[in-house]
Amino acid sequence: MGTYDVIVVGAGTAGCYASYLIGRGGLKVALLERKGFNDIGYKVCGDAIGKHHFDNLGLSYPSGEELDCVFSGVKIYSPNEEHSIIVPGEGFGVNRKAFGRRLLNMALDVGVDLFPSFHVSKPLVEGGFVVGVEGIDREGHTIQLKSNVVIDASGFSSIVRSRLPFDWWINEQIKGEDTNICYREIVETKVEFDTKYAMIYLSKRIAPGGYWWLFPKRSNIVNVGLGVQPTGNAPNPRINYMRFIASRPEFKGARVIDSGGGIVPTRRPIYCPVGNGILAVGDALAACNPIHGGGIGPSLISAKHAAEVVLEVLERGPPSMENLWSYCLRYISDYGLKQVSLDLFRMFLQRLSDDDLNFAFKQNVISGDEVDRVGRVGELNLSVVDKVGRALKLISRPSLLYKLKVVVDYMGKIKTLYGEYPEDPEMFPTWRNRVEKLICEFVEHIS
Ligand SMILES: Cc1cc2nc3c(=O)[nH]c(=O)nc-3n(C[C@H](O)[C@H](O)[C@H](O)COP(=O)(O)OP(=O)(O)OC[C@H]3O[C@@H](n4cnc5c(N)ncnc54)[C@H](O)[C@@H]3O)c2cc1C
Repeated sequence: MGTYDVIVVGAGTAGCYASYLIGRGGLKVALLERKGFNDIGYKVCGDAIGKHHFDNLGLSYPSGEELDCVFSGVKIYSPNEEHSIIVPGEGFGVNRKAFGRRLLNMALDVGVDLFPSFHVSKPLVEGGFVVGVEGIDREGHTIQLKSNVVIDASGFSSIVRSRLPFDWWINEQIKGEDTNICYREIVETKVEFDTKYAMIYLSKRIAPGGYWWLFPKRSNIVNVGLGVQPTGNAPNPRINYMRFIASRPEFKGARVIDSGGGIVPTRRPIYCPVGNGILAVGDALAACNPIHGGGIGPSLISAKHAAEVVLEVLERGPPSMENLWSYCLRYISDYGLKQVSLDLFRMFLQRLSDDDLNFAFKQNVISGDEVDRVGRVGELNLSVVDKVGRALKLISRPSLLYKLKVVVDYMGKIKTLYGEYPEDPEMFPTWRNRVEKLICEFVEHIS
């Protein structure tokens, strides 16, 4: 087997894309995946991805068997379903396995060595550097593989970074409240759906701390699911799915094609995604969009930056944390900055009642274009708050207006602080303390 320049753990979207880019750059890459070869690419997912991600990354659009449908926007419903707004923006409903196979084949075509059915159990650490991983291969043998750099692309389980000593900054735990536990089915229905929009339903009763979705694939095949924030007495998402969603008239007599669950990190990225000889990408970095949980695009963005930094660093010296540090800065300026301000917006939204949301939808206090802007750049502008203020004053909801002003204020503050992400790791602990303090302060204000 020999020694590799880079070991990538996990052949999801992040791992395959990082492997492809690094392999294309001429380095020797091993891609380790616990799934069997034929299952690689499959993932329990909503299967929706914005078109802009393909444009920004220079990837060709899904087509043929990979493409299920093209959306022209997202329709968001109020909890009582009496009102909705349309957020513009094209996106694709994809055949997730076919899309995953495309990325895998890209990696294989540039000579990446794939080890399917290989279950990684821990990193190997020597002299303060990650120098490889240990795992169990398909024959049940314990194997150690060595490399200069390991990329943790193992998804939410973060199998490599979470097995490092606790004093490694990259080993940051994700709290339950910063995740959504999801359940989803792909069903063939008797009724036909309009495939123009991906639909999101806000409802604390059905999906507390999350939402439920209906993303059409074909007019009579839809991806339907929900995510809940696992706090306190949060319900089991599968039970709520059966109780509130599967029982709706439009799903009467529907045939289940596929079902399953999964966890989505819904927060800012981990503060420090690098260590000596290691980087984290995709869900292992907590790269999903905190508002809608979309993680395919950001997993590819993080993989791209990680691959570029690894190629540069291995050409000129050891992959120390200091040398890999530019990955933190590049990811934050490309996506993390928006992610962190959306994280605060997410905390605010999770504290709104269904009644507040029904009211806001009814008063039409925020338009689809404004929601689009919040989602794209992570900014809620003050004119929106003024408009909300005017509407709220009508029936006096001062606490909601106050919280909205606080959110706008803190979204700006946290973006400024992330704009000051330390160029030098020595300054990192001080910076992280400032961020955590600001978030605590924000939560106190809105709670
Ligand atoms: C129910 C649900 C719905 C979603 N809907 C959407 C959506 O509509 N749009 C969107 O953009 N995002 C969605 N997401 C999020 C998105 O799927 C993820 O963010 C994205 O797939 C992350 O890619 P990844 O490569 O980082 O991780 P993953 O796709 O999870 O890949 C990690 C890989 O690592 C492998 N692995 C794990 N542990 C080990 C180990 N010990 N040894 C070897 N291999 C290992 C896994 O088998 C897996 O193949 C959804 C997620 C869920 C759960």
